[in-house]
Amino acid sequence: LSYCKSLPKIELHAHLTGSLSDETVLRLLEAKRKEGAVNLPESAELTIQRGHNRTLEECFKLFGILHCLTDNLEAVKKITRDVIREFVSDNVRYLELRTTPKFIPDKMTKKDYIDTVLDTMIEEMKTNNIIVRLLLSIDRSRGVDDARNTVQLAKDYTTHEIYKTLICGIDVSGNPQSGKLTDYICVLEEAKKCGFRLAVHLAEIPSEEETLAVLKANIVDRIGHGTFIHLASGGSQELLDLVKHYQIPLEVCVSSNVKSGTVKNVQDHHLGLWRKEDHPLVICTDDKGIFSTSLSEEYCICAETFDLSKSDLIKMCISAVESTFLSHHEKHQLRLSIQDELNSLK
Ligand code: IMP
Repeated sequence: LSYCKSLPKIELHAHLTGSLSDETVLRLLEAKRKEGAVNLPESAELTIQRGHNRTLEECFKLFGILHCLTDNLEAVKKITRDVIREFVSDNVRYLELRTTPKFIPDKMTKKDYIDTVLDTMIEEMKTNNIIVRLLLSIDRSRGVDDARNTVQLAKDYTTHEIYKTLICGIDVSGNPQSGKLTDYICVLEEAKKCGFRLAVHLAEIPSEEETLAVLKANIVDRIGHGTFIHLASGGSQELLDLVKHYQIPLEVCVSSNVKSGTVKNVQDHHLGLWRKEDHPLVICTDDKGIFSTSLSEEYCICAETFDLSKSDLIKMCISAVESTFLSHHEKHQLRLSIQDELNSLK
C-alpha cells in the first residue's frame, strides 16, 4: 500500500457526495444535530466496510441520506474542501470531480451549488499540490428536461472569465435501473456540439440495447464501469468491438462494483479481461466514502489481484493522463510533472 500511496495518481471517476469520509460525515451529522434534527443515522451506517455488500438499490438510498446532510452551501463548501484534501493526502495530482447540481428551495439554486464547488476548488488548488476539474452530472433518473438544464448550466459557464476552464465535461450517472439512457442521446449530442467531453456510466448492469445505441451514437469519451460490455463478462462481441474500435477508455472502480454486487468478486472483475485487450483503463474510486476505500487502495487491490508489477502501475499512472479531459497542452504539462515525480521515486 505504501508504494501505491507514493505514486502520483490521477482520479477520473469520483462523485462528490459519494466521496465523503467518515470524519466529514460525522461533522455533518453533528451540524444537523445542532439544528435539532432527530433520527439521524450513525456514520458507520453510511459506508460499506471491507467484506460487506449492499445492493445497488441500497447504495442509492445512502446517497439520499447524504444529500439531506449536504443541503446547504456551508456544507457543500466543507465537503468539497474535505474531499479535495483527502485526495491530496492520497497523492492524487489530478482530480476530476463530478457532481449533480442541486436545488434546495430557500437554501441554494443550482448555480449557487456549482459556484460554491468551483470557488472551493480554486481555493484548494492555491494551497495544495493538485489540479482539480469538474464534470456536471446528469442523473438518468431525473428526466430529459433536467439533463437539458444541466447542459445549459454548463454552457453558461463557458463565458465566465474564471470558471470556464474548470468545467471540463459532462457525466451521465444515476441509478442504472432507472430511466432509459437512449432518451438522453439527443441532449448528449447537443453537449458534444458545445464542445463538452462526455463520461457516461455504461453497462453498469446488463443493458445491451441502450449500451449499443449510445456507443453507436459515437459520443462517449470515457466509459464509467462498462461492466457488461466485454463478451466474457456478459456483454457481446458487438459491444466489445465498438469500444475497441473507438478506443474509449474505461474508468474501472473495483471495490464499488464488488461491494454493490454487480461483480461477484475481485478476481472476476472485468479489469483483467480488458488488460488482455491492451485497452486504455484508468483505476478509480467512484465513491471512496461509501465504499470505504482510497485510490491507493484501489491500485493495491488491482496490483495484488491481477499481478501488476511496479512498472505496470507506473505505466497506468502515466497513461491515465491521456484519458483526462484536459487540453493537449495541459496533458503534456501534467505528463511531464507526473513523470518527473515518478523518476524521483526510483
Ligand atoms: P453527487 O452527484 O455529488 O450528489 O454524488 C452522488 C450521486 O452520484 C448519486 O446520487 C448518483 O446519482 C451518482 N452515483 C454515484 N455512484 C454511482 C454509481 O456507481 N453508479 C451510478 N451513479 C452513481
